Formats: sequence, C-alpha cells, structure tokens
Amino acid sequence: MPISKIIKIAQVLFSIAGRYLIFAGVFYLFFYVWKKRAYWHAKIQQRYPENKHILREIIYSFFTILIFGAVIMLVIFASKQHLTRIYPSISDKGYAYYFLSIGLMILMHDTYFYWTHRAMHWKPLFKLMHKTHHLSTNPTPFAAYAFHPLEAIVEIGIVPLIAFTIPYHGTALTIFSLYSLLLNVTGHLGYELFPKGFTTHRLFKWHNTSTHHNMHHRLVKCNYGLYFNIWDRLMGTNHPDYEKSFDQIVEKRKKAKSKEGIALLPDELATE
Ligand SMILES: [Zn+2]
Ligand SMILES: [Zn+2]
Repeated sequence: MPISKIIKIAQVLFSIAGRYLIFAGVFYLFFYVWKKRAYWHAKIQQRYPENKHILREIIYSFFTILIFGAVIMLVIFASKQHLTRIYPSISDKGYAYYFLSIGLMILMHDTYFYWTHRAMHWKPLFKLMHKTHHLSTNPTPFAAYAFHPLEAIVEIGIVPLIAFTIPYHGTALTIFSLYSLLLNVTGHLGYELFPKGFTTHRLFKWHNTSTHHNMHHRLVKCNYGLYFNIWDRLMGTNHPDYEKSFDQIVEKRKKAKSKEGIALLPDELATE
C-alpha cells in the first residue's frame, strides 16, 4: 500500500478518535470529575455508573471508530471517483444552499436514526446488534459510540446516504458531523441542563433533551429520537411520563441550588 494511502487512513482515524475523545472527554471531566459536586443535583439518575461500565463504553467506542473510519474511507474513495454528489467550491451552489444542506442533513439523520433505532428494537435485531448499547442503563458521554460493530455500521450509514443523495460541500458534512456528535454526547451526558418548561414550550418541546435519551437507556421501550421530538410525538413513542420526569429533575435542581448549594455525593452519604 502506498505511504500516502496509509497517511490518509491514519488521518481519518485520528480525526474520528480525536473528536470523540475531545467531546466525550471534556463533558466527562467537567461533569463527572471537576464539577461533580456542583452538578450532582442535575444528575438525571441519582447514582453514578461503575468504572467497569465506563471502560466498556470506551472499549466498544474504539471498535466503532475503526468501523466509522473504514466507511468514511470508502466514501472518500467514491468521491474521488465522482460517484458521490460532493461539489468542490461553496460558490458552486451559494451560501443559501450550503446552510440549507446542513439543515437537510440533520433532518435526514433525525428520520434515519429514529427508524433504524426502532427497527433495532425489534427483538431479533435487538439481541443481535443493539443490546450492547443498552448495557449502559446509566450512560456517560463515552456511551456516544458504544455500539456493537453491526450497529456501528448502521449508525455510520447516514454518511453514505447523504453523500450519494444530496449535493454537499465537504465542510458542510463536517459541521453536520460535529453537531451530530455534540447532540449524541449531550444525549448521553446523564445531566439535565435545559431550563424549566422546555418540554412543554410550544417551540422547544420539539427538540429533545438529555432526560429524553436517558429515559430510553433506563426504560428501553420509549423515546427513540435523536435531535428532535418530532417522530416520537407523531408515532406516540414518547414515555407518558417524559414531561413530568423532566419537570421533576429541573425542580430538584432548582431547589438544591437555592438551598445549601453544596451537595453530598452518594459515597459521602453512605459514610454519614
Ligand atoms: Zn435503543
Ligand atoms: Zn444511547
């Protein structure tokens, strides 16, 4: 294999791994280490996962990164052969289309994610490929890529789907990927940071919250969406207590803040 190809593969892998480690790592260090005490009351489930679970999330993510890298290399190869709909200069289609294409990618992914996710909850598929992700019942940001290798292929499938169907600029796809990763990491954050009334506001209720996906990990057969709360509302798959749970978490967070401010963590409570 020519050295230039090896360098390209290494670049792609480092870029995917780097993004994952920076996004998940920064959120993890902030909420689970540095500000652990200050944000305890915003913790959706009032407990922390064991270290072995966090390690499992990181190990599965490592294999996911390899699979994502392989699929992205194939898309890059196809682009070089002019098989995808990539265009070289933003001015080819203008800035209006450029931003529109990012919105379109997000909407496409939201639909793709909801329906592939629901399909993977069909019992035979769940056992085969999605159970691994659900081993995290109290997820941390590192769960963002904790997939069975077969699920990893499904998850990265959105990239070729976009590349072969809509005209796109390379940087638009990068912005989309970064936004997608951010939503994925915050969905697995384990802390609710959105303000009171978010899930009942006539506009904001259409956007998902960290509580939403956390409930999916804890209760499994509900709350399948990623970015938006559109498909779950349309298909009636939101948990009936979703809004109530969100309000309770936010209320608890508010009370704790206005009270003493400094919380006792579970291990400290145990020694009280
Ligand atoms: Zn699931
Ligand atoms: Zn998840």
